[in-house]
Amino acid sequence: MSGFADWKQSLRQRSHPEGDCRIWDGPINNDGYGVFNYVDSFGRRRSVGAHKAAFLAAGGTLRPGEVVRHIVCHRTLCIEPKHLAAGTQKENLDERKITGTWARRGVESTARVNAERPERLKAMAAGISARDFAAKFGIGENAAFQWLRRWRLRSAESGDN
Ligand SMILES: [Zn+2]
Repeated sequence: MSGFADWKQSLRQRSHPEGDCRIWDGPINNDGYGVFNYVDSFGRRRSVGAHKAAFLAAGGTLRPGEVVRHIVCHRTLCIEPKHLAAGTQKENLDERKITGTWARRGVESTARVNAERPERLKAMAAGISARDFAAKFGIGENAAFQWLRRWRLRSAESGDN
């Protein structure tokens, strides 16, 4: 199980604390979950959900058919093991129906945020926290966080910043 020590280290390096949460900074899939890439013992490149990797690296176990759920903060990018627990896919889906899926909020955020004038957005997105940004547009904090991150990455690539 020495591999999990490496996982822990790289999960830590690719995330940052935010309140009680630890938020994933690496790649993200279309459902808003972090993607953790690793090389298995046969030298094959593989990937697993970052929250699942964090759960397993912290000593958590999954029975067949179980998934790792966010039982405390409901933030798909949180990899804090204390916020994660094993559960069934059905429990996960029931919960997502109640809390609203990240994907839906993401779409909503794009529509609302993109309706704003680009120069205003540029000024606003520079230093604002995800929480304030979410409040401003009436969207989920997770969606706001995602949007801001993409925005900053794009700005950095185009040399805008
Ligand atoms: Zn959390």
